[in-house]
Amino acid sequence: KTFAELGLSSKVQAAIDAAGYKSPTPIQAAAIPIAVTGRDVLGIAQTGTGKTASFVLPMITRLETGRARARMPRSLILAPTRELAAQVAQSFEKYGVNNKLNLALLIGGVSMEDQVKRLDRGVDVLIATPGRLIDHFQRGRVMLMGVEILVIDEADRMLDMGFIPDIEKICKLLPPRRQTLFFSATMPPEITRLVSQFLTNPERVEV
Ligand code: AMP
Repeated sequence: KTFAELGLSSKVQAAIDAAGYKSPTPIQAAAIPIAVTGRDVLGIAQTGTGKTASFVLPMITRLETGRARARMPRSLILAPTRELAAQVAQSFEKYGVNNKLNLALLIGGVSMEDQVKRLDRGVDVLIATPGRLIDHFQRGRVMLMGVEILVIDEADRMLDMGFIPDIEKICKLLPPRRQTLFFSATMPPEITRLVSQFLTNPERVEV
């Protein structure tokens, strides 16, 4: 398969060309055509497989229509660590060079004031670690009922770090009618339970 066959927008395709990518990785070839249609995806893949682009590219494509409102992010990506959240933000910058997306990164160690300013301006893509997001939510600085797309990245690491109760809390604040893209390298029972609770008729993609 080529990138041109995956249903991505021309702006995203141009960013892929600029990045010098010749062909999609197996997870990208399998997940992107499903994700661009708005369906839920359960992706079972390790890091280093091109997993990040497999959710970032279709998200940018889908966010091209519509506009962000103050304090109501249009999409939410939950990552287990600050480092991973920052890497995901870099991917949005790289693949979104031709799209004017407002990003906000809610992680520990970054000034709350700057994060609040960004939230007030309206964000298309909110990337967060669970604890920091709940902190902002409880202070009334972010609302989650406008989220159209949810990504849970490295769910099994979230489990190891004790974040499952936080994830459940956050998922219950989101509109039930949304797209969910869920990634994990392994599928222990706690993760399977989370998937059956928060995904709707997901397409399972395993590489
Ligand atoms: P990830 O598994 O998402 O952490 O990606 C691993 C690395 O592969 C990143 O540095 C990406 O820039 C790179 N990458 C992702 N997709 C492709 C592709 N289709 N062709 C070449 N490199 C890629």
